[in-house]
Amino acid sequence: MVRDALGRPLRDLRISVIDRCNFRCRYCMPREVFGPDHSYLEREEILSFEELNQLVTSIIPLGVEKIRLTGGEPLLRRDFPKLVEILSSHGVELALTTNGLLLERYAKELAEAGLDRVTVSLDALDDETFQLMTDTNAKVSDILAGIDAAVAAGLSPVKINTVVRKGVNEHAVLQLFNHFRGSGVIVRFIEYMDVGASNNWSRGEVVTGSEILEILRSEHHLEPIIPENDSQVAKLWQTQDGDKVGLITSISEPFCGDCTRGRISSEGRFYTCLFSDIGFDIKSIIRSEPSEDELRDLVSFVWLNRADRYSELRDEGRRIHLPIEMSHIGG
Ligand code: SAM
Ligand code: SF4
Ligand code: SF4
Repeated sequence: MVRDALGRPLRDLRISVIDRCNFRCRYCMPREVFGPDHSYLEREEILSFEELNQLVTSIIPLGVEKIRLTGGEPLLRRDFPKLVEILSSHGVELALTTNGLLLERYAKELAEAGLDRVTVSLDALDDETFQLMTDTNAKVSDILAGIDAAVAAGLSPVKINTVVRKGVNEHAVLQLFNHFRGSGVIVRFIEYMDVGASNNWSRGEVVTGSEILEILRSEHHLEPIIPENDSQVAKLWQTQDGDKVGLITSISEPFCGDCTRGRISSEGRFYTCLFSDIGFDIKSIIRSEPSEDELRDLVSFVWLNRADRYSELRDEGRRIHLPIEMSHIGG
């Protein structure tokens, strides 16, 4: 197992399979930046399924236990279930993060192709707030239908990612938690992060994990759950009835010390931190036809030298120059 300069293993691999999206969430792909004139990656600039499989085959022996497919919106990638089928043959946990709009259509096929779990992003239960956050005409009912289809297909436990923005969707916190209570679906509330360079983030818009907990505790008695492993990003709480809720506190309580995630961006770069401005150009290496060992050694070398802990240094004002966008690195 490879460990980085701070002793952290490479346990999770997140792969952004596409830079396009059918939503324009204001915190991720604001329309002013990702408008009709925005140029997306050409097909040949994105790693093919064969190349992704080659990469995964090389990297798994370094200690990877889990692969998460993300984007952009991964369900927009042509023949996406085929990629799931290819990667599921490696026998490590295979998960998906999606905005859920196309999930009703694909859930069963994805489960049959070997997908294990799915996380669906959903920021509100009322259409008005949901459409404001995602800047689309999509309806909450479309996403709920996708979540139901995922549960029916056995992609459990289904998790919900909810980004909370001050003055926009705090009211959704209790509504979402109450809606999914008793269903086995776990809502995880995420502090709004300063990812990328286009969302004009300001700390004033962050609702902290403790503020979210306070909102939840106004109605529910919640006790913390002791984490199963160090690399669990969400701090979990539960009610006496066993209903769980997660808090992802990247801003108020960073967890870099336990960060075991390597990321492949949609343009085929290997990033060792969500906030990196430089990624290792693995696509060029793959296209130079290396052996499996050569590819593994290169990734191992990059990981061995990793010392990232951006979120812990944020308050020291060490803002990186032009960090990669969330839609390219996938969260
Ligand atoms: N399109 C898919 C989706 O939305 O689930 C996958 C990609 S999206 C970039 C992955 C996750 O990143 C989503 O759950 C989204 O809410 C989260 N995200 C995007 N921008 C964020 C930000 N500025 N702060 C916190 N989370 C963010
Ligand atoms: Fe698209 Fe996901 Fe980003 Fe929203 S968060 S714009 S759904 S990639
Ligand atoms: Fe990991 Fe970087 Fe986030 Fe820290 S800031 S938890 S190192 S991705």
